[in-house]
Amino acid sequence: MSAPNKSFDPVEVAVLKEEAVNEARDGALAAIEQAANLAELKEVRNAHAGDRSPLSLANREIGALPPAAKAEAGKRVGQARGQIRAALEAKETELQIAEQEAKLAAERVDVTVPVDRKRLGARHPLSVIAEQLADVFVAMGFEVAEGPEVEAEWFNFDALNLGPDHPARTMQDTFFVDSPDSGVVLRTHTSPVQIRALLNRELPVYVVCPGRVFRTDELDATHTPVFHQIEGLAVDKGITMADLKGTLDHFAAAIFGEGLVTRLRPSYFPFTEPSAEVDLQCFACRGESVDSPDNPCRTCSSEGWIEWGGCGMVNPRVLEACGVDSSEYSGFAFGMGLERTLMFRYGITDMRDMVEGDMRFATHYGMEL
Ligand SMILES: [Zn+2]
Repeated sequence: MSAPNKSFDPVEVAVLKEEAVNEARDGALAAIEQAANLAELKEVRNAHAGDRSPLSLANREIGALPPAAKAEAGKRVGQARGQIRAALEAKETELQIAEQEAKLAAERVDVTVPVDRKRLGARHPLSVIAEQLADVFVAMGFEVAEGPEVEAEWFNFDALNLGPDHPARTMQDTFFVDSPDSGVVLRTHTSPVQIRALLNRELPVYVVCPGRVFRTDELDATHTPVFHQIEGLAVDKGITMADLKGTLDHFAAAIFGEGLVTRLRPSYFPFTEPSAEVDLQCFACRGESVDSPDNPCRTCSSEGWIEWGGCGMVNPRVLEACGVDSSEYSGFAFGMGLERTLMFRYGITDMRDMVEGDMRFATHYGMEL
């Protein structure tokens, strides 16, 4: 700092001359402009706006000036410093934005880049629909019951009123485990689970049994040697066919749509008496295609009804075989194929799609969870 000078003209103080101040200012502005990042800008700030910068030093000279000169020099230096401060702030903001953008660009994730991701599997649609169907019955108070797939002949046939000489025994093409004399079969239906339920549980019994069954069918569009059934059984005092019909109607409406009903047609099964085929009201046309040649329905062939399963009142001989007093208790039973139900539900036309294990099938139809 120069010593106080009592009789000077401010222009005589070199650092306060207009050219010197402008030069310091222009040097600072140029340096600010050239700063490429915040670190460089910090150095520029120290050099041109810090305590030891030329204009700060010049500023200190002002105090020693006479009042008249003070104003002019103060204004000159103050304006220069103000310009530098403003330039520093503007540059700082600019560099901060640039650095933030560079950081974001560096961290950017391109979500559209193909990656080698592991595909998630889907549950098989048959497993999904088995649970959905069973849920309808669980909501009505039924329990889900299961049984072995390798089954004793007695459970699969005899207890169900299909004695060794019963002609219907040959209606079901059976896989025998070992020789036909072994007495062990792959169950041909889920009905043996009913027998096990009646033997193992206290009355009344309300069970629903989804499961895999086996018959010696060739695989084609409508048959497969391994397929699935869902079967229901209710044994209680005072059970009537009206309970059966009401249960089936509720089932149909829950799965295929509000208001859909079932129709019973007389039939024969050894384990029920009387027995009936269960037809489902066509969910596609709801019967409107009948006698309406202009408006044919492919789902039901314009019949208005689709064959769905079988049902009936439990044959008293079955109840007796399980130690149930048939004079006191009665029951109904019904069963339908899961594959068929799934085919209706999704318009699947070829049963082979369900067993060939193509992931695309499971992914497409198995998503509804
Ligand atoms: Zn129809």
